[in-house]
Amino acid sequence: MAAITIPTELCEKLRNAKKVVALTGAGISAESGLATFRDAQTGLWAKYSPEELATPQAFIDNPELVWNWYAWRRQLAAEAMPNPGHQALVTMAEKVPEFLLVTQNIDGLHQRAGSTHVIELHGNIHRTKRFDDNQIVTDWEENGEIPPRCPTTNSLLRPDVVWFGENLPAGALAQAAIAAEECDIFFSIGTSSVVFPAAGLIGETLRHGGLTVEINPGETPHSSAVSFVLRGPAGSVLPELIQKTWP
Ligand code: NAD
Repeated sequence: MAAITIPTELCEKLRNAKKVVALTGAGISAESGLATFRDAQTGLWAKYSPEELATPQAFIDNPELVWNWYAWRRQLAAEAMPNPGHQALVTMAEKVPEFLLVTQNIDGLHQRAGSTHVIELHGNIHRTKRFDDNQIVTDWEENGEIPPRCPTTNSLLRPDVVWFGENLPAGALAQAAIAAEECDIFFSIGTSSVVFPAAGLIGETLRHGGLTVEINPGETPHSSAVSFVLRGPAGSVLPELIQKTWP
């Protein structure tokens, strides 16, 4: 792919910005080897779509299947390494006076890259909670039962991620929405912008006249509305943007 030209005007605006929000999606982890939601699943899981597995009803119908799918993805996430796109956002946070990183990803790669304050809209695959009341559980007995059960209440355990049809963590969306409304620049990075309410955050910035930037090799429903489209992979576009803005 030909190198992306980063607009000089964008670099100037970013250098002078006081408040910046970056929303990331599965695409920023694609170059770490993690499949995006819309990539076909592979191996054992090829016959299932994520939409069939990532719901409370799927867990009720077949908790073992859903637990095993997440256990497989947890393993892939643990083996993956953050890429230059994740690292560029650590640098951006150091350069911008008020920077908020909001992610739809559940893989924990932003934190492993060194991002210290990350709003996780969809939870984190490395945490586990009780199915019955959503309380986080850190220890349980591995006795071969799948899914394992809470040693205190006997509830089935599940990953602490937001499934289709579930509410986002209290406060996380509100904080992200306020930041999106107040920011000078909103970056939408590696997200197909079709999963709401996360996909609606950029609308807060657009309504208040902030600058919006999409970083994605593919089109999204927001492509025609944003101020700048950087059509390329986050792992090369973001480092180039950082380099050109703060040489
Ligand atoms: P998505 O799969 O719907 O969209 C991924 C987007 O990334 C697409 O627009 C694609 O064009 C773009 N993309 C692909 N490679 C890219 C790259 N190298 N650089 C930049 N962009 C790239 O994912 P989504 O928008 O995050 O939303 C769907 C849901 O998927 C979310 O709820 C999220 O929790 C979940 N998800 C998370 C992970 C993860 O944690 N790594 C993985 C899969 C799905």
